[in-house]
Amino acid sequence: MGDPISLLSERFVKFPGIGPRQAQRFVQFLLRTTPSARRELANAILALSGTHRCGQCMRYHTGEEATCAICLHPSRDAALLAVVASDTDLDALEKSSAYKGYYFVVGGTISLATERASVLREKELLKYIAERIDAGLIEVILAFPANPEGDYTGSQLKAIIGEKYPGIRISSLGRGLSTGSELEYADPDTLKSAFSGRR
Ligand SMILES: [Zn+2]
Repeated sequence: MGDPISLLSERFVKFPGIGPRQAQRFVQFLLRTTPSARRELANAILALSGTHRCGQCMRYHTGEEATCAICLHPSRDAALLAVVASDTDLDALEKSSAYKGYYFVVGGTISLATERASVLREKELLKYIAERIDAGLIEVILAFPANPEGDYTGSQLKAIIGEKYPGIRISSLGRGLSTGSELEYADPDTLKSAFSGRR
C-alpha cells in the first residue's frame, strides 16, 4: 500500500475535467471532514455497484426491476419519446416537470473533431422506437444541448430515424435555451418553454 493521500489523489485525477491540483484539493477537503462523513461518501460510492441500466431508457437506476420507475410509471405519455445525451440531461428534464413522455439515453453527442458516432446507441434507439410505435408513439423529440455538437448529433439522428420510420414526427427543443447551454444547467421554466417551442 502506498501513501493513501497520493493514492486517492491519483484516483480523482481520472475523473472527467479534473487536474492534479483539483484532485489534491478534493483530498484536502476530505482530510478536513469527519470519519463518518468519509464513510458516508465511501458507502455512497459502494452503493453504485447495485445500480444497473434500465432495459428501456438506458439510464442507471437502483430498482429491483429490469425497467426503471420512470418507464414503468403508468401515466407517462406514450405519444412522446425524448432522446437525450446523458442521464444528467434526463434528470434535468424530469425535474423540470416540462415533459411527461418516455425517454431514451443515447449515451453522448457526436464529437465534431472526430465525427465518430460509435459512442451512441443508435441501433438500440431504432429498436426502442419500434417498440414505442407499437405502444402509440407519434413524436420523437431530440433533446440535445444547444451547442454545435448537440445540433450535429440531433441532425444525424433525425436523418437516421426519418429514414427508418418516415411516419414519425421528429422535433427538436426550441431555442429558448440560450446557445451553448447544457440542459442540466437550464432552469425548469426555460426547459418548459423549450418543450412548448419545439419544432
Ligand atoms: Zn427507464
